[in-house]
Amino acid sequence: MMGRQVAQGALFYGFRLDDHVPSDHLLRRIDSVLDLGFVREALAASYSASGRPSIDPEMMLRMLLVGYLFGIRSERRLCEEVHLNLAYRWFCRLDLADRVPDHSTFSKNRHGRFRACDLHRLLFEQVVAQCAAAGLVAGHDVAVDASTILADASREKRLKGADAADKLRGRDTVSRPVAEYLAALDAALPPGPDEPAPVEPASISPTDPQAALTCKHGPARYAYAINPLLDLDTDCILDVEATPARFAAEVAATRTLVSRAGTRLGIAPASLSADKAYGSGPLLGWLIERNITPYIPVIDRGRQRDAFFTRDAFSYDREADTYRCPADKPLSYCGTNRASQVRVYRSRPGDCAACELKPQCTIGRKRGVTRLVSEDARDAVRALAGTDAYVQAHRRRKRIERVFGHLKRNLGLRTLKLRSLAGAAEEFTMAAAAYNLQLLARQAAPT
Ligand code: SF4
Repeated sequence: MMGRQVAQGALFYGFRLDDHVPSDHLLRRIDSVLDLGFVREALAASYSASGRPSIDPEMMLRMLLVGYLFGIRSERRLCEEVHLNLAYRWFCRLDLADRVPDHSTFSKNRHGRFRACDLHRLLFEQVVAQCAAAGLVAGHDVAVDASTILADASREKRLKGADAADKLRGRDTVSRPVAEYLAALDAALPPGPDEPAPVEPASISPTDPQAALTCKHGPARYAYAINPLLDLDTDCILDVEATPARFAAEVAATRTLVSRAGTRLGIAPASLSADKAYGSGPLLGWLIERNITPYIPVIDRGRQRDAFFTRDAFSYDREADTYRCPADKPLSYCGTNRASQVRVYRSRPGDCAACELKPQCTIGRKRGVTRLVSEDARDAVRALAGTDAYVQAHRRRKRIERVFGHLKRNLGLRTLKLRSLAGAAEEFTMAAAAYNLQLLARQAAPT
């Protein structure tokens, strides 16, 4: 006889969520390796000892992780999905009849107690520590790179000109991202002696002024950059930093990543691979000082001079600290330009006046050649190019592109849902934690 399914609500159910989550489900494997024991301790000072119990912050963190693991970008939709999905409920410790928190709860906690104790970074570092315990952190050969993630800001509404920040300051009420931008401007320290001067943006977004206008991938859009420090032996993300999508900020993030991996995680890499954008002398010198071999192509502008002898035509005598020109005359050191961090060498006017090669060399009375203060470091890195280790590191560095692909395609990190640099940092840190948890889960045997 053909049966007919009739919807009939039973009065009582004998139902255990645990029985309905497959043993090899991703969330079950992640649950077996996830340790959120630090959450209550980290947030203890933010809660009163009396009164009505709050929504469990550990449960909120679990819900956020579900969002990042399954590419659910909207918190409103995340609440709906957790309400409907048995595995999500099980992972968040919510029974069938338990109420899922309202989406506004995340926003309130984020801008309050979560950011006050940097909960998302604590979670990320806890996950990296678990990766280390599981043998997923070698920390020997690392790579850095940056990828652009679009900000939630329209380029149509931009403020142009040097007084754009003043226009924002003059407003009666300012949004949270604008307040954070103005506070960051007020707190900014002058750059160090070997750091580049900050770039003045040509325009800012009044919606998210910390985002940078970039045209890396087509039409100009406001964006941030995700900068991970990747372990090339295990593909584990050792650290991650958010910056506006500007080359200078992305390169500067490398120092933050390497320093923080040392102080917070005790990681001292032997080599660092990156693309040519990172091949500036100051960064190469900084890495060499820390005994980190930079497998990075050196930025070289010595050939960018048409019609005249380029710097390559002049040979450097390290012992005498002089250059020799194609006519074998000396160019002596005559001072350092501190702003551009270059040492300047000049020929003698008498030598040039009598020189047959002068038309190919200079239109002035004498010829000058500059040498970066960090040129020794650049020479040391140039000497690495072509070695087996360099070629291998150059090939392995491309693994970081796969990580970007995974974060964008599988975890949905194509556009940001939160505004301001702090919002970008939170999203990147959580996405990196979710990525590392997937690595850990892959190792964990089904329970
Ligand atoms: S012009 Fe001066 S610097 Fe240039 S090749 Fe002749 S002597 Fe040397």
